[in-house]
Amino acid sequence: MSDELLIAHAQPAKRVSRQARVVWGSRVVTVGGDAPVRVQSMTNTDTVDAVGTAIQVKELAIAGSEMVRITVNTPEAAEAVPYIRDQLDRMGIDVPLVGDFHYNGHRLLTDYPSMAQALSKYRINPGNVGKGDKRDRQFGQMIEAAVKYDKVVRIGVNWGSLDQELLASMMDENASRAAPWDAKQVMYQALIQSALTSADVAREMGLNPDQIIISCKVSGVQDLISVYRGLARRCDYALHLGLTEAGMGTKGTVASAVALSVLLQEGIGDTIRVSLTPQPGEARTQEVVVALEILQALGLRSFNPSVTACPGCGRTTSTTFQELAKQIDDFLRAQMPVWKARYPGVETMKVAVMGCIVNGPGESKHADIGISLPGTGEAPAAPVFIDGEKAMTLRGEGIAQEFHKIVEDYIERRFGAASTV
Ligand code: SF4
Repeated sequence: MSDELLIAHAQPAKRVSRQARVVWGSRVVTVGGDAPVRVQSMTNTDTVDAVGTAIQVKELAIAGSEMVRITVNTPEAAEAVPYIRDQLDRMGIDVPLVGDFHYNGHRLLTDYPSMAQALSKYRINPGNVGKGDKRDRQFGQMIEAAVKYDKVVRIGVNWGSLDQELLASMMDENASRAAPWDAKQVMYQALIQSALTSADVAREMGLNPDQIIISCKVSGVQDLISVYRGLARRCDYALHLGLTEAGMGTKGTVASAVALSVLLQEGIGDTIRVSLTPQPGEARTQEVVVALEILQALGLRSFNPSVTACPGCGRTTSTTFQELAKQIDDFLRAQMPVWKARYPGVETMKVAVMGCIVNGPGESKHADIGISLPGTGEAPAAPVFIDGEKAMTLRGEGIAQEFHKIVEDYIERRFGAASTV
């Protein structure tokens, strides 16, 4: 084969960034540098409800969130934070907490030292720290707290709350250009400038550059890609990535996945959050599930064994394979909290559940363990492939249960030996 026919294996690039350390007790979550891309989430409970908030933080952490942000918007919420932290510690949940501050963060961080200490990271929105003379002083008070308690700060700009004075002055400056940029370009630059100027001020006040993480969130996919490309060119801070106000359900999930994937493939993004609006009755943890899936689909991290399943077609006359694929997927996910420790490496396992002979055997051979169910007109037999070889054929009514057991035995055999527990 000639060299020009070789196709390069696609893989994410890696932007060189500073590394921040978000710490709680002995738990250290590194962000940026050579650390894996981290997953964050945010509660939607009233922080004053310390028990309810601690329970949701726990759920998010168990789902895979490596940092959890909580709203700190009132004195009562600030008072609740140390209790939330204490509840989590008692439950053995050492996930770092991030405080989300707007408008009054300077007062709360000054007046509630136990809260300032209990948080591991502060999110400061430069657009919401005050106006005019007050702005620098109030921003400074928050940075002073971060320096005093040795905390990481995320300077999180959002175009829904962009510093209007800065934007107006940049618009004026643009209007005086010989060839003015379009308004969107000015908006992108204002977002980036707001973040980087605030970072400069924070550094002048004594914050170590390794304590700074930057985000510039917008709600449009192409806007997010444009802004973060510009941001990544202009600084080496660790970057928190997310499509703000992504929306709900399929729309929010797809928009987040599309925007984040483009940037992550370019090496841009050191932590991510998927800002989904929960559908009525939907668990808050769905945003974590989607974030994990994005990173796993890109091959950036492995969290759960993956299940490959075909979509089904006219060759499948029953829902057997859909049910089996779901059962196996649910089973593997449910076991992961325990299996992570018991079966190191199990998260990289690939399982295939396929509907018929057309792609079934081939896809099953590519997986660690796979089954090709009988499609319409095929003999009622389901060959099982293990490590690329046909290992057995299942028949009869109990195919699902038997395959379940085969998967469990495979995991024990392959990953149990590496166990340290
Ligand atoms: S593997 Fe078979 S059942 Fe599944 S989509 Fe392909 S042809 Fe249809």
